Amino acid sequence: MTSQGTRRKSGDGRGRPSIAVVGSVNLDLVARAPRLPAPGETVTGATLAKHPGGKGANQALAARRLGARVALFAAVGTDPEAEAALALLRGEGIDLSACERHPDTPTGVALIAVDEDGENQIVVAPGANAIYSPHGLELEGFDAVICQLEIPTETIARAAAACRGLFCLNLAPARPLPESILERVDLLVMNETEARFAAASLGEHHALAAITFGARGADLRRDGDVIARARPPAVRAVDTTGAGDAFTAALVVGLVEGMEEGEALAFACAAGALAATGAGAQPSLPYRDAVERLLAQEAERAVDADGDMCFR
Ligand code: ADP
Repeated sequence: MTSQGTRRKSGDGRGRPSIAVVGSVNLDLVARAPRLPAPGETVTGATLAKHPGGKGANQALAARRLGARVALFAAVGTDPEAEAALALLRGEGIDLSACERHPDTPTGVALIAVDEDGENQIVVAPGANAIYSPHGLELEGFDAVICQLEIPTETIARAAAACRGLFCLNLAPARPLPESILERVDLLVMNETEARFAAASLGEHHALAAITFGARGADLRRDGDVIARARPPAVRAVDTTGAGDAFTAALVVGLVEGMEEGEALAFACAAGALAATGAGAQPSLPYRDAVERLLAQEAERAVDADGDMCFR
């Protein structure tokens, strides 16, 4: 862990953390088809939906809905897809003034085919995300900076160097990274698959690391030792896309607000669970009051269960 540590009170004096997300923006084109095509085959009868996406944009929106002031540092094209990808973020008050517009490069697009069982095939054309290489990243004033791995490694390295607060890296999608970035990470967030990749490829990591296990919850480790575990409240999962993004943003919001690690982990698990209850990534990212209500219901249920046991 760096000298910045991970527990801090948010910086603007009103308890509202300021978070910069340096990451990707995509437009997701989702075709729901009777079945997925084999190579060389055409399947017709699909319906098309367009959703704003990209892990950077999703995490920025998640942090915003959980109460943070958020700025997104990203790149899009000047095509109509850019507006479609950014509209929701702008509408919810995310600062997009640092988003670059590239006239000669398309906005990132994910082509997603989904069959009747929810099985999918995804092809990503990263477009402007792949050439996002800002010279000056002004990140000094933020309580936390969050990056994922859908932008160039060099840009992540610059964000890590410019960050003065908590630096969170969501190792998604997993790929090798230089030691110079890993050394600066205060908080690493991974799902099970990414954690296996990290264990096999990234060597020992001494910061705080959160590993998520879908409906089974998550744990938080420091120097490899588990320091907290949390299970999400039971929910009816509809589509788990975006659950990891909600989890990552919530964990950062909780930690920079000064929550205890276990409390922040429970907060993040509840946010991830709620994100799994609706279709699509961004529409189902939960607002703060919904997360707090769910946690309060869980706490009540736990008290009731204890009460029952006492009277038996
Ligand atoms: P990713 O989307 O990155 O693969 P996970 O699927 O592990 O990440 O989900 C992140 C978090 O979201 C989990 O730790 C859990 O708290 C919550 N979550 C995900 N799926 C479910 C589910 N089916 N039921 C309840 N909570 C879920």
